Amino acid sequence: MSPIHTDVLVIGCGIAGASAALQLAQDNQRQITLITRAADAEESNTRYAQGGIVTLGEDDSPDLIVKDVLAAGAGLSLPANARILAEEGPRLVREVIMETAGGAFDRTPDGQLAFGREAAHSRPRILHVGDATGKAIIQALIAALRRRPNVRIVPSATAVDLITFPHHSSDPLTVYEPITCHGAYVFEQPQRTVRRYLAGATVLATGGLGRIYRYTTNPRGARGDGLAMAYRAGARVINAEYVQFHPTTLAIEDGEGFLISEAVRGEGGRLLTPDGRRFMADYAPKWGDLAPRDVVARAIHHEMIERGYPHVLLDVSSAMPPDRLRERFPTIYARCLSLGVDITRQPIPVVPAAHYFCGGVWTDEWGRTTVQNLYAVGEVACTGVHGANRLASTSLLEGLVWGNRAARDVAARGPLPIAAAEAVPRWEEEGLEEDADPALIWRDMRTIQHTMWHYVGLVRSARRLARALRDLNHLKQDIDSFYRATRLNDALIGLRHSVQAALIVAEAAHHNRVSRGCHYRDDTKGTAAL
Ligand SMILES: Cc1cc2nc3c(=O)[nH]c(=O)nc-3n(C[C@H](O)[C@H](O)[C@H](O)COP(=O)(O)OP(=O)(O)OC[C@H]3O[C@@H](n4cnc5c(N)ncnc54)[C@H](O)[C@@H]3O)c2cc1C
Repeated sequence: MSPIHTDVLVIGCGIAGASAALQLAQDNQRQITLITRAADAEESNTRYAQGGIVTLGEDDSPDLIVKDVLAAGAGLSLPANARILAEEGPRLVREVIMETAGGAFDRTPDGQLAFGREAAHSRPRILHVGDATGKAIIQALIAALRRRPNVRIVPSATAVDLITFPHHSSDPLTVYEPITCHGAYVFEQPQRTVRRYLAGATVLATGGLGRIYRYTTNPRGARGDGLAMAYRAGARVINAEYVQFHPTTLAIEDGEGFLISEAVRGEGGRLLTPDGRRFMADYAPKWGDLAPRDVVARAIHHEMIERGYPHVLLDVSSAMPPDRLRERFPTIYARCLSLGVDITRQPIPVVPAAHYFCGGVWTDEWGRTTVQNLYAVGEVACTGVHGANRLASTSLLEGLVWGNRAARDVAARGPLPIAAAEAVPRWEEEGLEEDADPALIWRDMRTIQHTMWHYVGLVRSARRLARALRDLNHLKQDIDSFYRATRLNDALIGLRHSVQAALIVAEAAHHNRVSRGCHYRDDTKGTAAL
């Protein structure tokens, strides 16, 4: 099949990929191709973000934002990049989301922007659209992209591997050149075939990896695809042990993984044991229920393990009048009610779940990775902003800022040469007749998820991590042979990416004996102070 040639290939269209594409599209001469494995371009982690996006609140300053980011990051956040986030972010929220894309945030009765407060923020500064902020943002961004004639959005297109030289080059002399990305092999789901997407620059924006865990807030596509592809291509990956667990997700059958936003605690919601005892002050005397999320997640985990509770409770009914509660949290209210819990009268049963990947593909302040012409932005990337633990509502902002920055860097470099079709071999599919067995894929995925949850979860130890590495390495061998012998589909591609991503996280966790932020080891003395 003939290849696609495009100036820039953006893999993933959540907030990071969409922001990059929108900025790149300002030059009408530049052709941008945006692919997503989902059938609907809006489907992404971004779509499910509830709480909101950070901006400058009243009586606020970039200095205060930086201070809060660094405090949450537990000594591992990169100050220079936290400053970029704090200084450029609020302007880009206004210019890109509100002015260019026409997105609107909630306002107070007198027409001013309404600033929400969230855990570990020293000021109310979170812009929101009820509790469905991400959905409103991504709808506005995708609609804006659809208005650009030089942007092509290709849904149901799963990236299988990055095309890099020397690895995929037909010229042996490229071995003497730096590793360079020339696009990606992409599985087009409707045609069931792999096509070469050749590009001058490639922006990886595939989001996180929550789905490699048994319990997660993340939707189906968050499988660590981009992390695995970049790692295989030779890009540097850092901080992979720092997986943030959200403290409060629904613990009701059929509602599993549904996130109860931290804004609920920000509005006065209190954590209680099932027998009605408040416990957060025992774990975080200074912050109580508004402690950083890793502290809250481990406190809940500890209460559950020590006392055998199946979950704890989050009571917001006594903090807000029913009308206000329904207005502020319409999605949470409706979802809980559909599962039999009226949050205006009853506490919500909650448990922690894997939520956000703080580590990722190393990038500099412009989103450049260690592979030439490959950029990484958003949750797949690690700019260092989040350090060992992310401050609530900063990830949408980071995706927006670095999506925009990567685009500006690509633009500043002028048109980059696109590899000729003859220089890159076609994907070899000849002779593969057998379809992937969905039962095997489901079972292997479940094994990865259980292994990660139990051995590479909230509380880790050398023994658990060694066991995880052994099991995952064994499984990877099986999956690799299965992958080579079977016709591709999206689930099989995801399984291969997931086992690789799980190994990256487990290896990093095994290697790092110091507890810090959301990486917690109960078998070593080296605990970095929060
Ligand atoms: C329930 C929930 C609530 C959250 N609430 C907040 C919040 O209030 N504030 C905040 O700041 N953050 C929040 N977050 C985190 C935030 O939503 C994410 O970190 C952010 O949206 C990531 O954006 P992204 O553009 O990097 O990736 P995503 O939005 O996840 O987009 C990834 C894109 O990559 C595509 N993709 C993946 N693999 C492939 C592949 N192999 N080939 C092609 N395409 C691929 C996907 O289809 C998708 O289009 C929340 C997350 C969740 C899950």
